[in-house]
Amino acid sequence: MRFLREENIPLLLHRLSESATVWAPQVVRDTVNTVLFSPWLEGAEVETGLYSMLSAKELVLPATERLFSYRYSQAGGREKIEINADAPQEQAAIFAARACDAKGLAVMDALFLDRSGASYNDGQYRARRSGLTVITLACTTCDSACFCSSFEKGAAETAGSDIILYPATGGYLAEAVSKRGEELAALDLFRDSSLEKPELARTAKVELAGLGQRLFDIYDDLDFWRRTAEGCLSCGYCSYACPACHCFNIFDEAESDRTGGRFRCWDACMFYAYTQESSGNNPRPEPAHRYRNRLAHKFSYYPLNRGEILCTGCGRCIRGCPAGLDLRDAIRAVRAR
Ligand code: SF4
Ligand code: SF4
Repeated sequence: MRFLREENIPLLLHRLSESATVWAPQVVRDTVNTVLFSPWLEGAEVETGLYSMLSAKELVLPATERLFSYRYSQAGGREKIEINADAPQEQAAIFAARACDAKGLAVMDALFLDRSGASYNDGQYRARRSGLTVITLACTTCDSACFCSSFEKGAAETAGSDIILYPATGGYLAEAVSKRGEELAALDLFRDSSLEKPELARTAKVELAGLGQRLFDIYDDLDFWRRTAEGCLSCGYCSYACPACHCFNIFDEAESDRTGGRFRCWDACMFYAYTQESSGNNPRPEPAHRYRNRLAHKFSYYPLNRGEILCTGCGRCIRGCPAGLDLRDAIRAVRAR
C-alpha cells in the first residue's frame, strides 16, 4: 500500500492536469450544494462530502457528441460526399469517483467494448475510455439512499477503477488496481505505508435474489405498476443520473444544405417519446409502462441477456427523484407481490 498526504492532493491534481483534463466533484457555482463532476482548474475546491447529482458516465458517453461531419461538393460534374469521423483523443482523469461510479463504467465497458461481436465495439467510447484514469475515493460513510451493500462487493468494489484512495488520518491509503493505477502510485507524491485499510461503509440492503423471475411473473399486472409508478413525472432524471443507464438517440443535423453532422445524445426510456412510433402508436404510453421497463431492464432482461445487473446501488435516482419514488420500495413491492 502507498500513502498520499492530504496536502499532496492539489499537487496530484496539478500533475494530472499537465497531461489530461481532470474531472472532480465540485459545487456548481451559484448553487448551495449541487455537486457535479466538472473539469478541475488550478486552485478549485474538490467536494468529497456531498454526492454528485450526475454520475461520471459523461466522460465516456457525453450527453451530446458528434460522431461525424459531412460535406457535399461538386467534382468533375459529379456530386461527392466527404465524411470525417470525429475521433476523441483527449486524455482525462476522474478524481474522487465513488466505487458505484467506477462500477458503472465497468458495466458500460462490457457493452460498448464487447469484442465478442455479440454487441458493439464502439470507437468513440473506446477512445474516451482508453484515455481515462479513474481515481476512486472509497466510502467510509453513506447516506440513506445508498444501497451498494445489496451487491456482492458493496463499497469494496474495485471494477472500473485504476486506483482506490482510502481515507486515513492525515491523508489517504492508495491501492492500485490496474497498471495505470500502479504507475500513479509510483509517483513521488506517494510513500510506502503499512497502515490497514479503514472499515468501509455498509449501506442498507435490498434483497435482489429471484427478482428477475419475479419481474417476469408480474409483468402484465398493470394495476400493480400503476400503483408502483404513481406520481412519476416522466422527467428522465433517474436515467440521466444513473451510472449504468446508457440509452442514446442518433440524429443528423444540417448546418447548411451542403454540410452537417451526425450526433449521439442521451435518451431515456422514461420519456413518452422514447417508444413513440411514426404510426402514432406508443407501446409504453403510461408512466407505469415505462417504470416497469426501467426496473425490468435493469434487474431482469439485461441480467438474463448479459449477466450483469444494470444498477450499482448509487442511490442517485432515489435522492433526486422529484416525485419521491424509491427504486428500493418498488423492488420490495415486486418481491412481496
Ligand atoms: S421515477 Fe422520478 S426521476 Fe424517474 S422519471 Fe419518474 S419522476 Fe423522474
Ligand atoms: S438505478 Fe438508481 S441506484 Fe441503481 S445505479 Fe442507477 S441511479 Fe444508481
